[in-house]
Amino acid sequence: MPEGDTIFRAARTLHRALAGHLVTEFETVLPKLSRVAFDSPLSGRTVDKVVALGKWVRMHFSGDLILLTHMLMSGSWHIYRPGEKWQRRPIDMRIVVKTERVWAVAFNVPVAEFHTLDTLRRRPGFRSLGPDVLAAEFDSAQAIASLRANGEMEVGVALLTQSIIAGLGNVFKSEVCFACQVNPFRRLSTLSIEETTCLVNTARTFLLANVTEASGDQIVTLMHRTTDRSNVEERLWVYGRRGKPCRRCGALIESRKQGSEARITFWCPRCQPMTLAKEFRNAAAS
Ligand SMILES: [Zn+2]
Repeated sequence: MPEGDTIFRAARTLHRALAGHLVTEFETVLPKLSRVAFDSPLSGRTVDKVVALGKWVRMHFSGDLILLTHMLMSGSWHIYRPGEKWQRRPIDMRIVVKTERVWAVAFNVPVAEFHTLDTLRRRPGFRSLGPDVLAAEFDSAQAIASLRANGEMEVGVALLTQSIIAGLGNVFKSEVCFACQVNPFRRLSTLSIEETTCLVNTARTFLLANVTEASGDQIVTLMHRTTDRSNVEERLWVYGRRGKPCRRCGALIESRKQGSEARITFWCPRCQPMTLAKEFRNAAAS
């Protein structure tokens, strides 16, 4: 699943390429979309804006029409010049939004819907999205409260639950837990307020750092980075490092499937014990 920062960057790039421009043609292989596009044609409308919220990309057109796409595991948006060769197979194409200057092509998006502002507001799942760590108006207190309200949930599961906190994917889940020395299999109710606060603040810091890195005008597959090391091989603390020595203590990194969706979680057994981390212990006792 792409991380929220990848989607945020994709939406930003789409916005820069499309906003203010007239749609000249709209193509889709998705019957549900083509029905709507037939009744309320896209060509002739202007793209007002493209925004990301959690894992969703919303493309707003003039005349109150919104194209909502969800990236899930495999979906992506690309931008091409008219006639330019695509980097994915045409058979993976789901949607093409054409303007005079660029074509925005959605490949393999598993969820794509047209909405008006009103139907979007009433859409289940969309309405229940938790605080988005990349949102300008992000309220950390609200995110902390949201985590603490789900005490029975394991940390690693909660961080991926978009209705609790939106924007994190599987890579940052493990990285955030490591940075805060929290074992991802602990229940949220066992965390001190400092630990919960650390998770929320670190999630935002990591994702923002990966968004503000210059990426030019291309939508690229993002190289997530959480360490400060220049060596590409050393850009993550624990994710994908099963059996390798912890960069902090040398213990071997472990991994295990977690939650009902069996998403793989990486952690250091020594830096992230099942008990309250040392530096938080005093604070919790006071
Ligand atoms: Zn360690």
